[in-house]
Amino acid sequence: MSALMQTYARLPVTFSHGEGVYLYDTGGRRYLDAIAGIAVNGLGHAHPAVTAAIRQQADKLVHTSNLYRIEAQERLGEALTAVAGMENCFFGNSGAEANEAAIKLARLYGHQRKIDKPAIVVLEGAFHGRTLATLSATGNRKIQAGFEPLVTGFIRAPRNDVQALRQIAAHNPGVVAVLLEPIQGESGVHALSPEYLRAVREICDEQEWLLMLDEVQTGNGRTGHYFACQGLGLVPDVITTAKGLGNGVPIGACLARGAAASVLGAGQHGSTFGGNPLACAAGLAVVQTITAGKLADNATAMGRLITEQLLDDEAAAANIVEIRGRGLMIGVELHKDCGELVQRALEAGLLINVTAGNTIRLLPPLVINRQEAQELAAAVAQLIREA
Ligand SMILES: *Cc1c(COP(=O)(O)O)cnc(C)c1O
Repeated sequence: MSALMQTYARLPVTFSHGEGVYLYDTGGRRYLDAIAGIAVNGLGHAHPAVTAAIRQQADKLVHTSNLYRIEAQERLGEALTAVAGMENCFFGNSGAEANEAAIKLARLYGHQRKIDKPAIVVLEGAFHGRTLATLSATGNRKIQAGFEPLVTGFIRAPRNDVQALRQIAAHNPGVVAVLLEPIQGESGVHALSPEYLRAVREICDEQEWLLMLDEVQTGNGRTGHYFACQGLGLVPDVITTAKGLGNGVPIGACLARGAAASVLGAGQHGSTFGGNPLACAAGLAVVQTITAGKLADNATAMGRLITEQLLDDEAAAANIVEIRGRGLMIGVELHKDCGELVQRALEAGLLINVTAGNTIRLLPPLVINRQEAQELAAAVAQLIREA
């Protein structure tokens, strides 16, 4: 521990292995994993298709660099753009890097249109990552404090406020893009309204701005569709994703279509590891498993089951303000701050997360079955009753 920088307040548990929705600690105790590595292990732990893909690829080749063609990267690029309805993509290693690619793409798009100081509209409560540009785009002062000077070129707008966006359009000729999460995760699981998102698309079309969706957390089946925008009939110009894409193997992607697809040219962006054979083999197994196995539909059904079971428990429901989200991205807002529930849940063999102070965030694996979802809801209800 002492050899590690103290950047995380870690819980006092170490896991040795996992299977499906369960993790086992070094003492052999079993935990129901309702956080899935923060929306990463969508296929659960030790999924046989992902394990086999990693094994087979590791046996052959792990890394060559983007100086050469990479078969696994080309295949994943094809599968991912096809399922997303996008044209092409760039691979990095994380969500922040996927967003960095989108931010660079938007700035270059602006410069190509002779806009000297391109600006990107971002929302209050947004979370886009921890690199300098992405923390500057993030709408949370705690994440920015101490790292000033921030990267300029971001204009902050309130959530779900069409008028505010029209005002920004009227007064800022340098805007080139809007970057937003269809459902904000870190700020407490807040879905943007479908009407707002439709209006954003319209304004982007009028103004020739790029609509860039950060689907790092909402993507890869979590909200009931492969990407959340597909459930809204919303067609963006850029999608970024990461978390669930590699089921734990680090990989992120920035996908583009239309004008956005031809912005970045040779030498204008890069990553040594990005899209390496190992990560792409895992990513391909994930995309194929999610699309073949109807896991997004399962997310919808199991999300509904968990939500209904929580609200059916009268004693628990009395402590609940609201349950938000879609599919298996669930925020349960309580009447008071509940950070201590994370430790209490751990003691009860349940892994959860609390965000925005008073919101329990549930992000279980998409492979969760009915019985496990009932077990999860019962355990969360008990925590909430006692809160
Ligand atoms: C987690 C997250 C990121 C950052 O991803 P990293 O892989 O941690 O860099 C960006 N955007 C959203 C919406 C996220 O949930």
